[in-house]
Amino acid sequence: MAHGYSSVHPRTAALLKELGVTDGQITQGYGNASASAGYHLAEGRTAPAPAGHPYSSCVDLDYDLAWQPGFLGRLSMAGIAGFVRDTGSFTDNHHIHAVHPGLLDEDGEVAILSGPRTQLIDYIHGRDGLKGHQALQGRWKPVQAQKDAIAAVYNAWAPHVATRVYNAHGDWIPCYAFFELGTVRCEARPLLEALGATVGWDGQMIATHDGKPLDLSNARLRLAVDFTRGDVRGLAEALGYKVKFNWAADKNSAEVRLSV
Ligand SMILES: [Zn+2]
Repeated sequence: MAHGYSSVHPRTAALLKELGVTDGQITQGYGNASASAGYHLAEGRTAPAPAGHPYSSCVDLDYDLAWQPGFLGRLSMAGIAGFVRDTGSFTDNHHIHAVHPGLLDEDGEVAILSGPRTQLIDYIHGRDGLKGHQALQGRWKPVQAQKDAIAAVYNAWAPHVATRVYNAHGDWIPCYAFFELGTVRCEARPLLEALGATVGWDGQMIATHDGKPLDLSNARLRLAVDFTRGDVRGLAEALGYKVKFNWAADKNSAEVRLSV
């Protein structure tokens, strides 16, 4: 896996240098280490080929930095969201996993993948950025001003249209739905389970309802690391729901209403 300053976006490098991070303390830039499979995949290049190199919004830092007084707070105030990974599946792989919002690819476009994007949203809400989206525990978590610093960068750069999905009774289904590229996509498992389906895994996501397999072929399922995302319409229609999308009057948010 790529490591050191040459493995991160020049904007990430500039901020980390200011914070005193050494080349050797950048343990993974873009890459595909097994413990973080998918999050660090290259999102684009820092400049059109053959110049530049691939980059990811994710960067892993040496765990020693997590013990440096004030480091994680300064990292967040510099606009980089850091998660200390030292428990659970990370017991033998202590590190800081960080996500840097605000990067643009070689065409000047936002190219962040939905895995790290979901982690930024979790950070802003005090959650851990892992499967299950639990409240962040452990030796460090951001205070409000630090979450706000990341939210300000994120919202100015890659805002998603907050899209609430409501079931046929009008109850909100929290499923990380965003309006992306003309379609509302969400995490498939929480939506399917909220609608009474049983979700399993057989090399890909499979689901049943009342013992019958669901045809998810129109949901365009795609694994974004731990999060399998799919089209809300395709998922809900697999369960026989009608789907209606409504913009809020201000066009800053939207909702999806399911009905039978
Ligand atoms: Zn990482």
